[in-house]
Amino acid sequence: MQIAKKGMAKKAIFERLTEFRENDIKWQEGRTYGYVFDPGKATMEVGKAAYNEFLSENGLDFTVFRSLLRLERELAAFVASHLRGDSQVVGNFTSGGTESIILAVKAARDCYREKRPDITVPEMILPATAHAAFHKAAHYLGVKAVTVSVDPQSFRADVQKTKSAITGRSIMIVGSAPSYAHGVVDPIADLAALAQENDLWMHTDACMGGFLLPYLRRLGQQVPDFDFTVPGVTSISVDLHKYAYTPKGASLILYRNKALRRHQIYACSRWIGYTIVNNAVQSSRSGGPMAAAWAVLNYVGDEGYLEIARKKLAAVKKITDGIDRIDGLRLLTRPDMCLISFTSDEVNVFYIIDEMNQRGWYIQPSLSFDNSPAHIHLSVSASNVGWEEELLENLAECVHIARSLPDGELTGLIKGNLKGVDLSAISDTEIMGLLAAAGVTDGALPSRMADINGALDALPAQVRERVLTAFVNDMFSQP
Ligand SMILES: *Cc1c(COP(=O)(O)O)cnc(C)c1O
Repeated sequence: MQIAKKGMAKKAIFERLTEFRENDIKWQEGRTYGYVFDPGKATMEVGKAAYNEFLSENGLDFTVFRSLLRLERELAAFVASHLRGDSQVVGNFTSGGTESIILAVKAARDCYREKRPDITVPEMILPATAHAAFHKAAHYLGVKAVTVSVDPQSFRADVQKTKSAITGRSIMIVGSAPSYAHGVVDPIADLAALAQENDLWMHTDACMGGFLLPYLRRLGQQVPDFDFTVPGVTSISVDLHKYAYTPKGASLILYRNKALRRHQIYACSRWIGYTIVNNAVQSSRSGGPMAAAWAVLNYVGDEGYLEIARKKLAAVKKITDGIDRIDGLRLLTRPDMCLISFTSDEVNVFYIIDEMNQRGWYIQPSLSFDNSPAHIHLSVSASNVGWEEELLENLAECVHIARSLPDGELTGLIKGNLKGVDLSAISDTEIMGLLAAAGVTDGALPSRMADINGALDALPAQVRERVLTAFVNDMFSQP
């Protein structure tokens, strides 16, 4: 494929782009429980306008673009005070939770390289519910991820198990506020105390909750401390492009003080060219997300966010109470925030998801791992408020329909024939053969995903990763 020989007309370009979106989920309707955090039209417009204004400014050099230095400092200060940090707390703006987490792990690694040069392969202790971004950071940065099971009832990090996982090579403990999957806040104070006793770095992953939880506390909810008021918490990641409803590409990584943050910064002057000194993983970076974040935070305002939080809380209560009443569904736990996880002991949850998709809903599949069963996840956000009753009615109907659906071929094959086979040695060609059996060929996806999810669910995690890699490697090819 080649780009247009003569430049296309503006109108034709936008027609094509609109066409490309035809099969995307219709998140604007408010029936998508994940991926898009939609604050409504007015706020969205403010964010987009600010984004456009600063799209071309380059955060690579704040001495040239002082506006971006100012925006980044103010954003970090807003969130530092939101998380009850003192005047020593510093932070940087990043493209998202993953980048914030990679930077925190890099800072911890480099801090302990100085402090504990005897450690060659540093270890980071992760509850099984810690976000995949920590595993990605570990993989990129040469840190070993040590995973610890969470409590099987509450799904919160298990402090005793975490303690037992500490070795002479440990550098870091992680807790979530809240965890993505089950939406519960880990015992951050206990984990941080453990970190302090053992002279370890403690990171609170508040990507989901850092912005919202303080509002829930103000509304009278019980919210365990997870922020800078907890002694021992070294760094906190907070996404703005989730429950602060700013356009995507907006997160912050905060540190208790500059001495800790120093390890995050990367400078390079051993080449011929401009001086590099980066706060973030990105080097050239658009001012758009930063300006948009600043604009949206100030447009909605503190009272606006409190109001949104109140509505979400009421919606979550309706949904969780409703799920409790639906025959065949079971909440995994009562969430501390707006992330709901539920499963079924009687029907295949992946069928429920497909049936819901057919009816215009997006609800998220989550594969089984460690002591958590395969389940359905909902991230409830502002635009979902008001859909509760219809959601529950449709869920009840889909559970009923799912009861009568037989197991898919691929899932049957994996569960039956391949049981006991050493799948670690399976070749990419064989993997592609299996995927073809599920209807995934030549870059096309089937409309129903239940069989694929069921098959993945039946595989061990390492094999799942190989299948997914082969699949994506195949999918992103020339059209
Ligand atoms: C979303 C999320 C992340 C990763 O953030 P991205 O912005 O998707 O990179 C990390 N941790 C938690 C708890 C999250 O919910």
